Amino acid sequence: MNNDLDALLALQADDVVIHGLEERLGALEPRIRELDQRRARLTDAMRRSEDAVGDEEKKQAWVRDKIAEHKALIDRNAAQMDAVTNMKMAAAATAQMEQAKAIVVAEEGDLVVINRKLDELRAVLHGQQGELAVLAAAQEVARGEVAAERAEIDGAVAVARASRARVAETVTASLRSKYDRIRVRRQPEAVFAMNGFSCGACDTAIPMQRRHIMSNTGAIDVCEGCGVLMYFPS
Ligand SMILES: [Zn+2]
Repeated sequence: MNNDLDALLALQADDVVIHGLEERLGALEPRIRELDQRRARLTDAMRRSEDAVGDEEKKQAWVRDKIAEHKALIDRNAAQMDAVTNMKMAAAATAQMEQAKAIVVAEEGDLVVINRKLDELRAVLHGQQGELAVLAAAQEVARGEVAAERAEIDGAVAVARASRARVAETVTASLRSKYDRIRVRRQPEAVFAMNGFSCGACDTAIPMQRRHIMSNTGAIDVCEGCGVLMYFPS
């Protein structure tokens, strides 16, 4: 058995575990971020709905005031009718009253439209408020799950790193630094068994003489094709 190779493969096994754990950690953030973004979008939409409701309520109040104002005018005209002494004045007062009545009818029509729109806007807002409550609850749950998962992964990473540190001690320094250099650009694996006469990673054929040396001495060699460490499987 080749002790260097065994130690190197054990080191790589720990690194693969750590790599997998780090990828799991990395996947946790987007989950939280996605919920945050949905909440921000929903909050924006709600703010717009609230503004729209506010604007419509202002219109409603304004039209109601106008209706009250014009009805008061009609009442005043009606009162004046009693005091009218000639036909000309009566005709003028009647015309004025009819005009005011027509305005009130139009304004009441406007009010119906405004009320209907306000109902719709309030329904939308209500729906958004419900959605936000559901989302906030989901966010709470997700945060709890992510925190628990992160704690579990952090624990596993600590164990794997401790194991890696122990194993690293057993790998020859020059081989370890070669391996570490390769892993800077290539993860998770940097060591490959040869596949027949070729590199197990990139399938580049290895010249017979090198192959021969590797199989006889158990040497660990760098692939000229892709730069990984190769060994001849026993
Ligand atoms: Zn290769």
